[in-house]
Amino acid sequence: MIIRKTIWPRTLSDFFSMTFILLIVPIIYWFELWVVLPAIHEPGTLPYILHFIFGNFIMVNIVGNFTYAVFCDTSTRRDIMPISAANTKDGWRLCASCETLSPPRSWHCSTCNVCILKRDHHCIFTGCCIGHFNHRYFIMFLLYLFVATTYGFCYNNLFIWNRIHFEFPMSIIKIIFPLAIFVFGFDGSINQFYLLLYIVSAVGMLYTGALCIYHFCLVINGNVANESNKKIHIYNLGWKQNIREVLGDRWYFTWILPYIKSQLPHNGVIWDTPSSWNYADSKNK
Ligand SMILES: [Zn+2]
Ligand SMILES: [Zn+2]
Repeated sequence: MIIRKTIWPRTLSDFFSMTFILLIVPIIYWFELWVVLPAIHEPGTLPYILHFIFGNFIMVNIVGNFTYAVFCDTSTRRDIMPISAANTKDGWRLCASCETLSPPRSWHCSTCNVCILKRDHHCIFTGCCIGHFNHRYFIMFLLYLFVATTYGFCYNNLFIWNRIHFEFPMSIIKIIFPLAIFVFGFDGSINQFYLLLYIVSAVGMLYTGALCIYHFCLVINGNVANESNKKIHIYNLGWKQNIREVLGDRWYFTWILPYIKSQLPHNGVIWDTPSSWNYADSKNK
């Protein structure tokens, strides 16, 4: 993996979104494993230990995949560009901003100020573009955020409703507008803070769930967001190969940990279409 040289967010929206993720993930982790879990299962019992291990496994995957997605360089600055292979007939184009030839499926990002190999989109939560070499980590980061918020939300329901004294309509206002807690008076009760975290996990579950559906559909169809918008479907190699294109040849292991190696079938520069693609040939190369 080639490491990106500067990971500092380049815009205010990148800065605030990254800061939000870097704060909320540890806070929710603390809430679920140190507040909710001991309140539901007696520490030291088997269910407590199993949930504790599973919670930490999810956290390692969130932090690991986020770190890999942020640090992985997937731009055209990588040393793998065989310029001699450049041919406008194959989809190469001159990028005026980078002042270089850029391969097919790459797009220029005005925030990162560089062309990105098989660019999917610019992610404000990682403060970088998602492209060929960090797509796997982004997908797994998203998947584990969804698993974490759903898992947390189920347990939070068992936890929170014993503690909150429900009064109509004030409780409804506080649930729909969490910040109203501060307007209508924060009574100093830690339960109001827990209620806020409960709402964050519920909104997070819906948001990451919608993003998972959107991005999984793109991966299965062999597209990136730009191509889908422009109705370009020429790189669709069948759902199984499309998954390998993002998660690598050991795609079935990539959910375990981000550190597991899984070779990508293409180099991010030269691409196959269904007419040029042969899986058996690719295995022999
Ligand atoms: Zn460019
Ligand atoms: Zn970007």
